[in-house]
Amino acid sequence: MTSCVFCKIVAWETPSQRVYEDDSYIAFLDINPINFGHTLIIPRKHYANVDEAPEEEVANLMKLAKKIGPAVVRAVDADAYNIGVNNGRAAGQLVDHVHLHVIPRNEGDGLKAWLGRGRYPEGEMGATAKKIKEVLEKQ
Ligand code: AMP
Ligand code: ZN
Repeated sequence: MTSCVFCKIVAWETPSQRVYEDDSYIAFLDINPINFGHTLIIPRKHYANVDEAPEEEVANLMKLAKKIGPAVVRAVDADAYNIGVNNGRAAGQLVDHVHLHVIPRNEGDGLKAWLGRGRYPEGEMGATAKKIKEVLEKQ
């Protein structure tokens, strides 16, 4: 059995709030968001990082960020979004399954960056995922 938490999310062995899925990729809410709506996009197939993943997978992750980013922004009423990759331990990568962070940002929210992590109040994570899914489905 895999010990990779994102593989477990892919296999529904670990719960997640999914906002998008297709045959090859899924997107779900980060459990410790920098801002509410912070979303992770991953391939279903396990690659440790950008260096291990085929070029096409990396390109497709970015294509999905272009689709999901604006939907997140609309759903949580943000102004913009960051697309981020931590590649390798020294760069802050904690989960060794390649992923893109899509982080909604508001004018003047201050760069909370990777240290200013939050927690959703009870029920808020599911409600946020639902809003993002609704925006994506209408596109
Ligand atoms: P990184 O530091 O780029 O490897 O980011 C890994 C991210 O995965 C962190 O932002 C974590 O908050 C997030 N994370 C870890 N476990 C889970 C989980 N079970 N569900 C959702 N997000 C998770
Ligand atoms: Zn994995």
